[in-house]
Amino acid sequence: MHFCCPVCGEKLNESVGSLRCKKGHCFDRARSGYVNLLLANRMHAKLPGDNREMVAARSRFLQNGYYAPLKDALCSQVLSYLPKMGEPVLLDSGCGEGYYTAAMAESAKRVNPHAAVLGTDISKAALMAAAKRTGDVEFAVASAFTLPVAAGSVDILTEVFSPFCQAEFHRVLKKGGVLLEAIPGARHLFGLKSVLYEQPYENKVKPYALEGFAFLGKTEVAGRIMITDPADIAALFQMTPYAYRTPPEAVRRLLSMPALDTEIAFQILAYRAETAN
Ligand SMILES: [Zn+2]
Repeated sequence: MHFCCPVCGEKLNESVGSLRCKKGHCFDRARSGYVNLLLANRMHAKLPGDNREMVAARSRFLQNGYYAPLKDALCSQVLSYLPKMGEPVLLDSGCGEGYYTAAMAESAKRVNPHAAVLGTDISKAALMAAAKRTGDVEFAVASAFTLPVAAGSVDILTEVFSPFCQAEFHRVLKKGGVLLEAIPGARHLFGLKSVLYEQPYENKVKPYALEGFAFLGKTEVAGRIMITDPADIAALFQMTPYAYRTPPEAVRRLLSMPALDTEIAFQILAYRAETAN
């Protein structure tokens, strides 16, 4: 067990149907297998994170393989950076419904059968789906700002389109550990945006330098997808930040299209954690 008690920071140990630290703090395991390590007083909403409908939409879209090139690129990064000896730990922060996590876990176990793979997300609905997807990953409800693992305990930390918490990622990574961050490329979903907006703009790609980390390089993944199922178009739209800020008539225009042709583009940035200054 690699998770730590969110109350006192002590190691958690498996006991029947729950996790317990030596000070007696106890966290129940949900029937689907994840454990809730998000303390009620740190929740900002009653049901934080993606709700069940959002999770279902995302699962449907990803399961149909539209973002498989990103999944494959993440897996090959794991293959190249995961230590082949010892018992390395990979943590996927903001893992959602586990589409990428499950695939990375498979790659990790291929490199090193002793590797442990952990996934955390703020959404219970997402982790319920994730825990059903794979038995190779330990999932916990937790915020990316207070990850329930010990300092210097993680070999690879992955973050795919989820909150980026530089200080917390640095805390949990081993010195020399690797941070893999997946972000949208400049032209990602440009075809979708062209339907929604009169003047679509390209995504801004952030500068790469990160304090406390050495930049190892970026991998670009780009392609084109043709979506011919309106339900998949709707699912994709729900996954994007545009779902919150698009005028209703533009949404109707998109959702009445029989097919959508759009570019997809991702960057995977790789960093090595260095000693903090
Ligand atoms: Zn405790």
